[in-house]
Amino acid sequence: MRTDWPDSNEAAISLTFDVDCESGWLGEDAAYVNRLSTLSEARFGATRGVPRILEILERHEIQGTFYIPGDTAERHAETCRTIVAAGHDVGHHGYLHLRSDGATQAQQREEIERGLEALSALGVTPRGYRSPSWELTPETFALLQEHDFAWDSSLMGDDRPYLHEGMLELPVHWSLDDWPHLHWKPGRGDAFTAPEDFLNTWLAEFESARADHRHVTYTMHPEVIGRGYRAQLLDRLIAEIRQRGNVWFATHGDVARWVMS
Ligand SMILES: [Zn+2]
Repeated sequence: MRTDWPDSNEAAISLTFDVDCESGWLGEDAAYVNRLSTLSEARFGATRGVPRILEILERHEIQGTFYIPGDTAERHAETCRTIVAAGHDVGHHGYLHLRSDGATQAQQREEIERGLEALSALGVTPRGYRSPSWELTPETFALLQEHDFAWDSSLMGDDRPYLHEGMLELPVHWSLDDWPHLHWKPGRGDAFTAPEDFLNTWLAEFESARADHRHVTYTMHPEVIGRGYRAQLLDRLIAEIRQRGNVWFATHGDVARWVMS
């Protein structure tokens, strides 16, 4: 697998967005269907979060990677069509965002196949997959191979692209995900990370990646990063990275094609 980057760039950066919206809650517990506040917070990702993200990416001329659950693709089809129309990469993120470790084999198959059908209705045949809540079982992994996916982005076994049982893995990490830092659940008792501290975490990872000449995946959720002052963090992250170094902002599809070429 090649470890250099096009045009002698010092590092490769992928901005990835998991468009969970309501599916994240409905897949966790059907009782959420009656929890209007929670669902509305999730829906904000489609109504306001995605448009803000698309505006930022367009202004910086960057293509992002959007992992979209089938439920979101159906429930928010118009929003998802704007993602596709802007030329961004779209990956598979389950159907109802069921954690595969808590799903039966039949449910795991349904998650993959209904998810593919829902994305197909948007005109998308995804090449990449990200498991809901980053729980990936051998059964779901076998389904990815059966359906000929080109890469997965759910595992954490290295901090650069690697092969897992023959499939390309574009690894992630919880500490680079906006959800643990910036999402808060009533009654859970934890606190938000200060926005400046989170930006500094992202930038520290960028500096370490630049020193190693490696690839970094940042993970975000439109309902989390799409709030006004947080969208500004994303804007500043991009501007700061561009100012500090020569970096290839690339989709997961671009990185997958490059490292395997
Ligand atoms: Zn998700």
